[in-house]
Amino acid sequence: MKLTVHDAVRNVTGTKHVLTVGETSALFDCGLVQGPRKESERRNRNLPFAPGGIDCVLLSHAHVDHSGSLPALVKGGFSGRIHCTKATADIAEILLRDTAYIQEHDLKYLNKRRRKRGEPALEPVYTMDDVEATLPLFAPVDYNTRVQVSRDIAVTFREAGHILGSASLEIDAVEAHRRRRIVFTGDLGRDDMPILRDVYRPKSADVLVTESTYGARKHNPADHVAEELAVFVRETAKRRGKIIVPAFAVGRTQRIIYMLHELMTSNRIPSMPIFVDSPLAISATEIFQRHPECYDEEMYDLLRSDDDPFGFSRITYTRTAAESKKLNRRPGPMIIISASGMCEAGRVLHHLKNNVSSRRNAVMIVGYQARHTLGRRLVEGMDKVRIFGEHYPVRARVKAFNEFSAHADSDDLVEFALGMRRVPRRTIIVHGSEQASLALARRLTENGLAGVTVPLDGETIEL
Ligand SMILES: [Zn+2]
Repeated sequence: MKLTVHDAVRNVTGTKHVLTVGETSALFDCGLVQGPRKESERRNRNLPFAPGGIDCVLLSHAHVDHSGSLPALVKGGFSGRIHCTKATADIAEILLRDTAYIQEHDLKYLNKRRRKRGEPALEPVYTMDDVEATLPLFAPVDYNTRVQVSRDIAVTFREAGHILGSASLEIDAVEAHRRRRIVFTGDLGRDDMPILRDVYRPKSADVLVTESTYGARKHNPADHVAEELAVFVRETAKRRGKIIVPAFAVGRTQRIIYMLHELMTSNRIPSMPIFVDSPLAISATEIFQRHPECYDEEMYDLLRSDDDPFGFSRITYTRTAAESKKLNRRPGPMIIISASGMCEAGRVLHHLKNNVSSRRNAVMIVGYQARHTLGRRLVEGMDKVRIFGEHYPVRARVKAFNEFSAHADSDDLVEFALGMRRVPRRTIIVHGSEQASLALARRLTENGLAGVTVPLDGETIEL
């Protein structure tokens, strides 16, 4: 029984870990690597294992850095089942279509420039046809229901409290009469998040494979964040500026709208238009409405008392590129929320290109930014950035709000591991920067947990 970890190791994007038990090879997630274009493309084109040798995928949640390479896996010869929750299957469908669309669309734009420079055109990593071939392989299941995915492996999806449909995987593996309970956290969320239920905490595990995105830090309390956000919005509104918010279309976007809606309703920030510039947002909203099985009690209460709990009445959705372009000419103040979350692709690039060089405007970073992404460079305060191959001076105010993150902080991660009645004998730390992963390893070890490792990319660990 062994686990080989790929890509999101001492790093955060591209999660693909292969669990081999007896005859079965199961893949934990199949994420897209994000970062500098050339390097990430190379890694996304060449998967680190033979796709035909994988029997099934166990998918924790739909975020592209966990699901976005599934079409490449299928293109490479995978034909097994993709097990996940029902909401994850629905969200993955729109995200994968969107990812293929963005790749084809961005490449068209990039290739136009390449042609001018006399360079050969690039091919997309996968196309919409590969996505269409992937969707029939999804095998959605209910939370908390044990599914036997092969003779050697059974899996139960447990609430991870991260985005709609997100789960941690509880795996029961049997090999030559040896039994192991393996828990793979996927991305863990936080308790008391709007809409979603709290994180399920497992009672026991032999092996824990845990994320460590915020393994080195603690989040600020929520009311503190609301005040900081209110000040930031008020100041930008005074300058009549635009606030650009790069955000994942599913999850983060809904959470920011929910918070802005609350601040406007209580007059803590002036009312101003909110544009959600993402062709995905309407479908995402429909998916939220289609999956009440994922709601917490508070959301049920809100549905009974507020007929607009997501704040939809304040929002304008821009579906077409022409509508999106109109926002350039429209005077501020306004808030534009647009994907992608790390500013690596999608419409947000056009908004940044048009707005980042004016002192009036502001960029609000609400999620984790991986190394070498445009989002990270903005957070680091670079005075100029490259977008679509051109340089733009950064004069807009850039502020990071890490607390919007739907990720557990270091206290939550420690509690997840040590709160078990029978703590894991082996803990494998993935999905975090090297510094965050090592910090979490240190804390867990100091608190008495034995067998904690931070593996290297491609390392195989006997379980
Ligand atoms: Zn995620």
